[in-house]
Amino acid sequence: MNSEINELYRLLTSSKHCVAFTGAGISTLSGIQDFRGKNGLYKKPNTELMFDINAFMTDPSIYYSMARDYIYDIDSKEPSVVHRVLAQLERLNILHAIITQNIDLLHQKAGSEKVIEIHGSPAIHSCPSCKWQTGFYDILDTVKSGGMPHCPNCGAVLKPNIVFFGESLPEFAIDSAISESSKSDLMLVLGSSLVVYPAASLPEYTLNSGGQIVIVNDMPTHLDKQAALHFDDLELTFSGLEEIIAS
Ligand SMILES: [Zn+2]
Repeated sequence: MNSEINELYRLLTSSKHCVAFTGAGISTLSGIQDFRGKNGLYKKPNTELMFDINAFMTDPSIYYSMARDYIYDIDSKEPSVVHRVLAQLERLNILHAIITQNIDLLHQKAGSEKVIEIHGSPAIHSCPSCKWQTGFYDILDTVKSGGMPHCPNCGAVLKPNIVFFGESLPEFAIDSAISESSKSDLMLVLGSSLVVYPAASLPEYTLNSGGQIVIVNDMPTHLDKQAALHFDDLELTFSGLEEIIAS
């Protein structure tokens, strides 16, 4: 294990354009429930309506009442060792971008700056009618105290810029994710089983342009055989990496 983590560190420090691709597995380390896992969020009644655009347009309180303890309790969630090490690798100029499927803002909370959120983000809340926008932290108290944020122009309930079921993925984020993946000579695939497209195909852009991928995930993926290195324990791997960087 240790020699493999040393090898991972060697790959990182010799890469020219390293990119990380992160999924729900890194946030479960921070106590955030994933959606489809064994104890996933979608096992609870009606939670599949939380991110349904038709449900939101009919009654936004369906989203806000369910998301209150999930998206908006960020103060009680701490970045995991994976979030921390990725932020550190960016400061060391080793990591050039993070592409994430997550909507929990933990990369930003850990200090990462270049974060491409392909499933959108609650960092911005927008008015569905007049497009007025505001930031997550400006509406946080309203939501936490049981209310819903309203547009000061037209009174409509604001919607987080998370991609809901029934909405299309943000074109700009997808384009820059593909561009970063193609430029990357080393992609770290972390905590994703690579089943949701188009995200699942991003490491293939790296492989097709001659780059290497490293996979750290506790479930098999369809690209395991093509990975230069493969680990199944995120916490062990990144704690090891954190020690090597500190030494
Ligand atoms: Zn408005």
